[in-house]
Amino acid sequence: MIDVIPIPAFKDNYIWVLINKTTNQCIGVDPGDATPLLDFLAQHQLTLSAIFITHHHPDHIGGIATILKDHQVPVYGPRKENISFCTHPLIENDMVSIQSWPVEFLIKEVPGHTLGHIFFYSKPWLFCGDTLFSIGCGRLFEGSPEQMYSSLKKITELPDETQIYCTHEYTLNNIKFAQKVDPNNENLNQYQHHCQILRAKNLPTLPSNLALEKACNPFLRCTNALIKKTVEDYCHQKFDTSVQIFAALRAWKDKF
Ligand SMILES: [Zn+2]
Repeated sequence: MIDVIPIPAFKDNYIWVLINKTTNQCIGVDPGDATPLLDFLAQHQLTLSAIFITHHHPDHIGGIATILKDHQVPVYGPRKENISFCTHPLIENDMVSIQSWPVEFLIKEVPGHTLGHIFFYSKPWLFCGDTLFSIGCGRLFEGSPEQMYSSLKKITELPDETQIYCTHEYTLNNIKFAQKVDPNNENLNQYQHHCQILRAKNLPTLPSNLALEKACNPFLRCTNALIKKTVEDYCHQKFDTSVQIFAALRAWKDKF
């Protein structure tokens, strides 16, 4: 039996922790800060088995050095990014298995937010870092719109019941933008209500699931006629391809 638990870090990050309840072992994903994870391990008497890293940003890797002082565990991260302490550099279609864990993780390269960004997938869990957010997607700090668009497509090819464990609690803000772009989307309004209730209780809106994201996330709906028209009206120009719509949508969100 494996649980996935969020540990809040910084202002709006989550360090996701997979817990094998049979063995009291766990895996930490993107520990940007050591203290919240180390406290959690001590509090629940868990043994750390491994660290997973999706990309090189400090709020995802900043805690690794301190954690490794007390826990000598393998660190799995993207081969295309130069991450200190990474013991297992990963590329597209690698499979990761951790000693004494009954699951395997498929690796995919999802450039866009950064050039070497990867995700870890083990049905139904997707650890996608800053690539897909609930009702949003990561900023294009390093990659092109084309790269990010095809990275998001890789995610949409996973099963609908995939659980989206992204790194940031941005959902309510993302919904506000999505409602501008996709004003008649009743599923989106219902989801906003659901998320407002969770946040009022200080609970995470995550994980999301892929079916809901396909129905509500404008960055996955660039072929939708209404979204296309809203973006074209905003930009005062016509677009021929869904990548152009995506690029315009991402640029609009950057200024929102
Ligand atoms: Zn990032």
